[in-house]
Amino acid sequence: MRNSTIPHLHPVAAMAIIAAFFNQGTVMTISKDKVVNIHYRLTEAGGPELESNSQGMPLAYLHGHGNILPSLEKGLEGLEVGAEVQVALTPEEAYGPYLEGHAQRIPIKHITSHHKRLLPGGLVQVNTEKGVINARIIKVGKFNVDLDLNHPFAGKSLVFDITVVSLRDATEEEIAHGHAHGDGGHHH
Ligand code: ZN
Repeated sequence: MRNSTIPHLHPVAAMAIIAAFFNQGTVMTISKDKVVNIHYRLTEAGGPELESNSQGMPLAYLHGHGNILPSLEKGLEGLEVGAEVQVALTPEEAYGPYLEGHAQRIPIKHITSHHKRLLPGGLVQVNTEKGVINARIIKVGKFNVDLDLNHPFAGKSLVFDITVVSLRDATEEEIAHGHAHGDGGHHH
């Protein structure tokens, strides 16, 4: 009579099989067509904080659809929920070099953001043939405003400190639209 029909496995091989079984379908990582919720803190390298949502609702973006800077997207690829990562970007990887003389005079009515007062140094959003862009006010006239059309972060090396808050598969509708819906994403 045979003692056992159970095959003998090397303990390491057995552990690998068990680990694969428990990981299957449970560990999601950031990849194309995932909706990723992040807390982020953006600072200029060696400088002040520029933006942060770490005290508020996470930002939701659709990975692999150019919703965020390509270099930042690359830095987040493959991460799991709970991951904390720091991604440093050169100006070229971020918003490009600062271009001198990149200014334009436009009618005030083309400014889409509504501020109580337009003041030199203030940021506004403006309609251009390339869509809505952010610009900094150089000078304000009666009907026109002179704008610096460089992105506010042009010429800056940026450091993003990011925490992956949650992660899910995108819906077909989100993939068709190319962005995330719901909390922290688009509402329409
Ligand atoms: Zn949509």
